[in-house]
Amino acid sequence: IPAAQHVHTLLASYPDFPQPGILFRDLNPVFADAVAFRAIIDDLSERYRGQFDAVAGIEARGFLLAAGIGYAAQCAVLAVRKGGKLPGTVLTEEYDLEYGSARLELEVGQLPAGSRVLIVDDVLATGGTVAATARLIERAGYLTIGVGVVLELAELDGRSRIGDAPVHTIVSV
Ligand code: IMP
Repeated sequence: IPAAQHVHTLLASYPDFPQPGILFRDLNPVFADAVAFRAIIDDLSERYRGQFDAVAGIEARGFLLAAGIGYAAQCAVLAVRKGGKLPGTVLTEEYDLEYGSARLELEVGQLPAGSRVLIVDDVLATGGTVAATARLIERAGYLTIGVGVVLELAELDGRSRIGDAPVHTIVSV
């Protein structure tokens, strides 16, 4: 069964969460299904096979994807964290969310300069989160070779904010 079919079947939607007017898409049922989880990891890894040296997961559900892809592809794993959680020398990017604003951070010096990085997250909405992550990757001296997400909310046109990197989404709604 293709990964997209698993996502369509298991995806849950919650109106007015976490705020009125937001239709929240819940991918946890996809992660909670062993066959579906493996299918989405395989799909994202295969799409960019041989093209990346590291996978960067965005806190928190992006971590789950990055861990699986890192294992499947035998590559390095970067944790892009929410503000204030990382020690040492960190790069910071502030950006606007669909609801509220946020800060993402990356520790410097984890990979060789020029390393090719695949950015992964569960949902692409306005694109602000992935765009901020791409700026962190660039400022750290690496190269974003692509973006992989499980679900794209197409009407928000997040792709237009991301720049040149190819964006692969398993399902677009
Ligand atoms: P963006 O920055 O607007 O693209 O929002 C993407 C970030 O917010 C991702 O890290 C998602 O996990 C989270 N997000 C936005 N909308 C949803 C949703 O409907 N369900 C789950 N996560 C969401």
